[in-house]
Amino acid sequence: MRILVVEDELKVARFLKKGLEAEGYEVETAADGKSGEKLARTEAYDLILLDVLLPKKDGFEILRDLRKDEIRIPILMLTARSTTEDIVGGLDQGADDYLTKPFAFTELLARIRSLMRRGTVKTKLKYIDLTLDTIAHKANRSGKSIELTAREYALIEYFIRNRGKLISRQELAKEIWGYNFDPGTNVVDVYVNHLRNKIDTDFAVKLMQTERGKGYYLSDKKITFKPAKQTVTCPEKFGSGKST
Ligand code: CA
Repeated sequence: MRILVVEDELKVARFLKKGLEAEGYEVETAADGKSGEKLARTEAYDLILLDVLLPKKDGFEILRDLRKDEIRIPILMLTARSTTEDIVGGLDQGADDYLTKPFAFTELLARIRSLMRRGTVKTKLKYIDLTLDTIAHKANRSGKSIELTAREYALIEYFIRNRGKLISRQELAKEIWGYNFDPGTNVVDVYVNHLRNKIDTDFAVKLMQTERGKGYYLSDKKITFKPAKQTVTCPEKFGSGKST
């Protein structure tokens, strides 16, 4: 999924680009209204994050002109103004959603996901040569389509969104199976193995990695995970009887 960020504050633009790329989105940025609008008109994006106060041409004008020309790319406005008039105005002119600055990055991600769920945004999630269509729930690797069950699809999407992170069986159970999951079964391992067979068997580069006793992670190479910080819980047990 390709996102255009039109934002003149360099720090904000960089932060958004870095954060969204870490989530698997492809991101391009424009630092003023004119160049942003030009990109929006010439390139294929799935979503535009559009700042309101921009040099050369402001966000509302860009929005109005794009919609006037029937350019229907979903647009999420980023506005520093929080007055209702501005927000209503933006939505009336065809914005799909808005966020008032400053906003939490997690909030932005939630809004993007919500636009995806509404079907406004067409999405592709990609990790190396593995691509997911998050609407059709289809997977393919190096152009070869892979048949997945609904549960396997949910698993691989979770792994791709959390690429490079060690994910415990408990976390997978909770995220994919929900709270009614019986932790006494080996269902998670069984499903991960099914998934591994489907996405890795025919390919030289293996993506599904196992950290023995800890869980699984998606990566094209082995990662050394640092052990969780040890906390000393009972200091009174140490050093008693010794006067060093
Ligand atoms: Ca601005």
